[in-house]
Amino acid sequence: MSGRVSLCIYCGSRTGDNAAYEAAATTVGTAIGCRGWRLVYGGGRAGLMGRVADAALAAGAQVLGVIPRSLMEREVGHRGLTELHVVETMHERKLMMAEHSDAFIALPGGIGTFEELFEVWTWRQLGYHDKPVGLLNVDGYYDALLDFMRQTVEHGFVSDLQHALLQVQTQPEALLDAIARLTPLATEPDDYRRI
Ligand code: AMP
Repeated sequence: MSGRVSLCIYCGSRTGDNAAYEAAATTVGTAIGCRGWRLVYGGGRAGLMGRVADAALAAGAQVLGVIPRSLMEREVGHRGLTELHVVETMHERKLMMAEHSDAFIALPGGIGTFEELFEVWTWRQLGYHDKPVGLLNVDGYYDALLDFMRQTVEHGFVSDLQHALLQVQTQPEALLDAIARLTPLATEPDDYRRI
């Protein structure tokens, strides 16, 4: 793998109750910088989102944030990024994040993180994109969700193939290595509206 990967990260706007979550967010941000990759994320400075962005910036990464105006006005936008796009709606924001990314991973987070992860996983299943989608299962945070996902296959609502599209790892570097193996060379932003 060569070339710059733009990696989209979905993660909590809170830090959670386990120091391992913040440590993992920092490790991922630092690794993005060390690999010469770009971070694409929701543009916030709160929670794990802020930790990833700060670590990526400190490690020399370019960081693109995309935030809706309403959140920006509540002063939760990160003002130290390489690029911060302020958009009008959540839909616009998720589309722009997806178009500017070569791969997606989720770290621990809440409903916002789940929604974003499941959206890009669904888009992959529908063939709207062919970019890798991964999950960092820090300290077992996602064990229950992963058990449930296995049940959805057993109950016949999700195919083995769809299930296998999600790359799951417990260690940041292992997940980024898996993403690097699966990511085509970085290209121009995609335009899903043409599909
Ligand atoms: P949650 O997991 O519910 O904390 O939501 C986090 C996800 O939703 C992130 O990946 C963001 O894209 C988005 N999000 C939620 N809250 C904010 C915020 N205050 N600033 C920026 N993005 C946010």
